[in-house]
Formats: sequence, C-alpha cells, structure tokens
Amino acid sequence: MADITVIGSNMIDLMTYIDRMPEEGETISAPSFSMGFGGKGSNQAIAASRLGSDVAMITAVGADEFGQQQLDNYQENGIKTDMIIHGKANSGVAPIFVEPTSGNRIIIVKGANDELTPDALDQFKSQIQSSKLIVLQQEIPLETNYRAIEIARAANVPVLLNPAPAVEGINREFVNQVQFYAPNETELSTITGMPVESIDEIKAAAHKLIDEGVENLIVTIGSRGVLWVCKDDFKLIDAHKVDAVDTTGAGDSFIGAFAHYYVAGESVSEALQHANDYAAVTVTRKGTQKSYPTAAELKNL
Ligand code: ATP
Repeated sequence: MADITVIGSNMIDLMTYIDRMPEEGETISAPSFSMGFGGKGSNQAIAASRLGSDVAMITAVGADEFGQQQLDNYQENGIKTDMIIHGKANSGVAPIFVEPTSGNRIIIVKGANDELTPDALDQFKSQIQSSKLIVLQQEIPLETNYRAIEIARAANVPVLLNPAPAVEGINREFVNQVQFYAPNETELSTITGMPVESIDEIKAAAHKLIDEGVENLIVTIGSRGVLWVCKDDFKLIDAHKVDAVDTTGAGDSFIGAFAHYYVAGESVSEALQHANDYAAVTVTRKGTQKSYPTAAELKNL
C-alpha cells in the first residue's frame, strides 16, 4: 500500500501559444502548440513521486490514446496504477491559450474524470484507510471528495484538500474535517468573499476560515510565497527570488512537495519551507510536469 494517495484528475494539456485570441468568425494561425500531461491530481502525484514518495493515484483515464499515455506516464514516474479506472468517456483535456501579453486562458473538459464517482471510489477503501495522507483537489465530482474525506476520517488518516479550481456550493462540513486546506490567494478570495490584495487582507481572510473551523490553512501566494495559519500559530514564508519563466503548475508542485515532506516526517513548518524551495525551482523551467525535478536533480542544483 502506498503512503500518499492522490484522488483526482488527469488531463492532457493542449498548450496553444497565440499572438492574440481570434475575433468571432475569424481564423488565425498561431506560432506553436505542444501537449503535456496535466490535471491537478496527476501533477501533485508526479511531484511527490519524483521526490521519492510512494504514491498511488486514484483517477479515471479516458477510453482513447490519451488514456494509455497517462497510464504510461504514471508508470514511468513510479506511481502505482492498479487503482486507475478505465472510463468510457474520452480523456479529460485542457485547451490552454497562452498569450504573450495576458494571463493564460484555460478550458477544462473533464471527460472520464467525472467517472470517478463515490461508488467507484469505494472499491479502493483499504488503500485510503492505510495511507499516511490523502490529497484531493476539485477537478472530480465533489461527492467523491466527500466520500474520500469520510473514509479517511473514520480511519484517522489526514487529508489535504486543495480547493482548485474554486467551485460553488461546497459543503463546509467536509472542509472542516480535513487537516490541511490549501487554496491559492484567488481561491481564498472566492471562498471567503474577501479582498486578498495585501498580505494583511490575505491574513484576515485566512483567519476568517480558521474561526469557522478550518484546522490548518495553507495559502500559496505566488511570487510572495506562502502563508500558513492555524489556531495558535501563523507563518509567512517568502518566495525565493528567482527568474520565473513559466509558473504553470507551480501550485501543484508545491502541494505535491508538501505532501512528500510531511509524510517523510517533517513538521508542517519544515515541509512548507521545503515545498516553497521546490516550487521555486519549477517556475524557472518551462512546462508543467516537465518542470518538476526529481530528488536527485534537486540535490545537484
Ligand atoms: P498554478 O495554478 O499555476 O498551479 P497557483 O496559483 O496555484 O499556481 P501559486 O500561488 O502561484 O500557485 O504558486 C505556488 C507556489 O510556487 C508559491 O507559494 C511559491 O512557493 C512558488 N512560486 C510561484 N511563483 C513564484 C515565483 N515567481 N518565484 C518564486 N516562487 C514562486
């Protein structure tokens, strides 16, 4: 049985590098295109596994070539694939439009990821119960996350929930049962309805969630680092000053690395520090999973 179980999505990122978005009815040509493995669940699993953790992935791959490629990718990265559901729908894909002068525009087509239902999850109960940490995001049905939290909690297994992407209608009862709730600052704003421009505003929004019953709140704030707040403590860790070339998937690398270091026995504070170090390296390299170093590579930097 693996130590870390990631229950979440897999997607194929369809990166289209454009000069500008076409107008309605217009066709334009774009400079380049590339495909990559993505999906928040997969990214986080890959980061933890490359750092040396024993990781199982529970996800639903599509009934097409992409599905097979995802399986191969997990295997190449040392991730256990015996809990992967072979869905009936096509694979999840994410057309991503990268424009030089503005933020990325991302469309998610979940495809087979929606076949990871609560009932489908039940067959993997014993893996969840024997894990040291469960890692969840929000690109699969919310009810599946709720079921995972229920199973884990009954077995005293800690859960990290990364509420990304932010979605409406979350049952807060479940959120308050996880040990780590880890949004980025934009998600924090959506969840609380509060402004998050300044660090003080982020702290105020974070404390609101702590007052409402969240145990540990970890807020990633891009080039400003990461904030950790719990009932009796808080810590702001500055980001490293690096030349960032591509921040896509930085948040996922951070979550995967935190899971690795925490399960390896570090305190929350130490694990956050090391995850902050790891994520800083990934933003200096192009690509999402491609930018995640292995433990050996990290040592030689
Ligand atoms: P994504 O959605 O692209 O995965 P995110 O918004 O969830 O990203 P961020 O908060 O942008 O995640 O970044 C996660 C972590 O990555 C930060 O907490 C920090 O440790 C590191 N990081 C991000 N951007 C930078 C940067 N420009 N320089 C150094 N570290 C960075």
